[in-house]
Amino acid sequence: MNTPTRTELAELGEFGLIDRLAKNILPALPETFKGIGDDCAVLDYGGEEFTLISTDMLVEGVHFDLAYCPLKHLGHKAVSVNVSDIVAMNGTPLHITVGLALSNRFSVEAIEELYAGMAAACKDYKIDLVGGDTTSSRSGLVISITVVGKVGKDKVAYRSGANVHDVLCVTGDLGGAYLGLQMLEREKQVFVSNPTVQPELAGKDYILQRQLKPIARTDFMYDLKEAGVVPTAMIDISDGLASEVMHLCKNSKVGMVIFEEKLPIDESAMETARDLNLDITTCALHGGEDYELLFTIRPQDFEKLKNSPHITAIGYCLPAEDGIWLNTLNNNHVKLTAQGWAHF
Ligand code: ADP
Ligand code: MG
Repeated sequence: MNTPTRTELAELGEFGLIDRLAKNILPALPETFKGIGDDCAVLDYGGEEFTLISTDMLVEGVHFDLAYCPLKHLGHKAVSVNVSDIVAMNGTPLHITVGLALSNRFSVEAIEELYAGMAAACKDYKIDLVGGDTTSSRSGLVISITVVGKVGKDKVAYRSGANVHDVLCVTGDLGGAYLGLQMLEREKQVFVSNPTVQPELAGKDYILQRQLKPIARTDFMYDLKEAGVVPTAMIDISDGLASEVMHLCKNSKVGMVIFEEKLPIDESAMETARDLNLDITTCALHGGEDYELLFTIRPQDFEKLKNSPHITAIGYCLPAEDGIWLNTLNNNHVKLTAQGWAHF
């Protein structure tokens, strides 16, 4: 007798699992311009613009810990991480729906607090919350948001358009969200062993905000528009720079080199890494959750954007066969690997 095959989720990992499932999901509608595989699905209902749609879920104990994550911030973050995927396609966010799974541990007031955060985010991003679903949960809070947006058909940026010699750029700075999380985790441990000790988070506002209330880079779309530049490829940094670099390379069939000395890092992130004895480059490469944009542009377009205060050129594209590299401070070439987050 044949025993049925059992493959452990850990064997495939998150991306391997999605690839395997996607193989059997073949779009049948002419309106499905691009299905699984980018930051958003791209739908063509006619006219000058595509419709964009994406879902992102936050799960208690996996993505957040209510011991240090205020519900209002969490509501704001849940919206931001979704809006970020629309921005990653160079799109404008429009509407969200919100799926909630709740346990009776929460009061009505607590859920109102979560919604106050979502409402604030809707105001910030000029989008509307137009529906959702509410159910019970036996294992904690789950927030699943679907976001809809639009993008001009000639403005859409996929993960797949990067060419050899394109400049690789990133908005903002990296590693802060991860270091903010490390600070919060450390203070939680201190609190658990001695609840009378006051948290030592003075001077950490920036990295805490990076972790607790990240802001999707809708502002950068205006820089792009003003400069008349469309990135050849773009992705938002949710899992970590290295992981997103690998996605761009895989989808665009290019290699890349990034320069350690160019990685944009905020002073307070640098300081915190030193205090916690962490390597700041590792935090920037693998930390994740910064929700900055990683994109490639043609060298001539870089000239048009180089005065934007929001961006840093950190590398460039190579032929695929040249591989994916980090050029370190002491000028060594190290093969880049994606650590990302092992969800399973
Ligand atoms: P992001 O980090 O930008 O949210 P993900 O890595 O979560 O992207 O997802 C990569 C791609 O896989 C996206 O196109 C997403 O829509 C798709 N995807 C993720 N999970 C599923 C799933 N369970 N079923 C179908 N498609 C999925
Ligand atoms: Mg994304």
